[in-house]
Amino acid sequence: MSKNLSLQETGELLLQAEKIVLCTHVSPDGDTLGSALGLARFLRQQGKEVTVYCDDQINAGFGFLPEIELVQRPSADVIVEADMLAVIDASSFDRIGLAATQVRYKTLLNIDHHISNTRFADYLYLDAEAAATGEVMCDLFVAMGWPLDYEMAVCFYTAITTDCGSFRYANTTPKTMRQAAMLLEYGVQSNEISDCLDMRSRSTVELLGKVLPSLTFERDGRIAYLTITNDLYDKSTNTDSFVSYPRYIEGVEIAVMFKAVEPEVTRVSMRSQSVDVAQVAVRFGGGGHLRAAGCTIYAPVEEARRQLLAELSKLI
Ligand code: 5GP
Ligand code: MN
Repeated sequence: MSKNLSLQETGELLLQAEKIVLCTHVSPDGDTLGSALGLARFLRQQGKEVTVYCDDQINAGFGFLPEIELVQRPSADVIVEADMLAVIDASSFDRIGLAATQVRYKTLLNIDHHISNTRFADYLYLDAEAAATGEVMCDLFVAMGWPLDYEMAVCFYTAITTDCGSFRYANTTPKTMRQAAMLLEYGVQSNEISDCLDMRSRSTVELLGKVLPSLTFERDGRIAYLTITNDLYDKSTNTDSFVSYPRYIEGVEIAVMFKAVEPEVTRVSMRSQSVDVAQVAVRFGGGGHLRAAGCTIYAPVEEARRQLLAELSKLI
């Protein structure tokens, strides 16, 4: 069980540490990467020894993020010692991969905005109302009077715009927009960032062409899903955007993408108009937000689909 911190206490705890490992969640998105990189840059400027860990492949599209080249992948053969391990934008300890076992820390801090947070860390700053962990970072910098620069602003703007769907999702609040506006004051060009984030590789679009024919409707068209079978699955192809195809169809309340990452392991992404999909994800050992959640089901894709659709059907 974590001790809840205020922003001030979170900032002070970070400043007390000298050797800090910041770590992102696996399947890294713009929020976890931007939040960790912006905070890492500030802490390095304070003279801290900072490592950013990400135990997963990072999509090439994030290459524009300042200091992304400094992100390291934890190694099974190397244990690092640190005053603090700070877990950024991950709601459970199993979401950070090898970083959970390869860092020997004195203090475990978690900064997050997921309603499904499992309170695994010693210290937690959780704001489940924040659209993004990037929004929490802005709150932290403002509360502490920490100076931002252009590079940090790019990181935090990317974090925010990623998780609020470019200010379109229900989690977008006046504060989300005020903070984005504050970041634009540092010279961030919103068009440049959205161009980077929306850019697709040819392989992504080619795979989409093969996956769209799997579109299936259930429950009178209130559930729609896509399936990436294991023979189509390619780890290096970014499929994060695919779930938006079943999502934005008239009458669809819940959209799902099933991805057979291994013959007996299925990744699930859910999006909903109203029902709480985070609680369904948690039932399968995953998590997320009310309207966007995910989990891993250790079963072949047909079986995973059967189990998940049975749970979703109870909701609508
Ligand atoms: P996505 O479908 O984009 O992968 O994830 C949607 C949301 O659910 C994100 O906030 C993500 O962090 C969360 N999420 C996705 N998969 C998992 C999972 O396996 N475990 C947990 N705890 N959260 C997840
Ligand atoms: Mn997030």
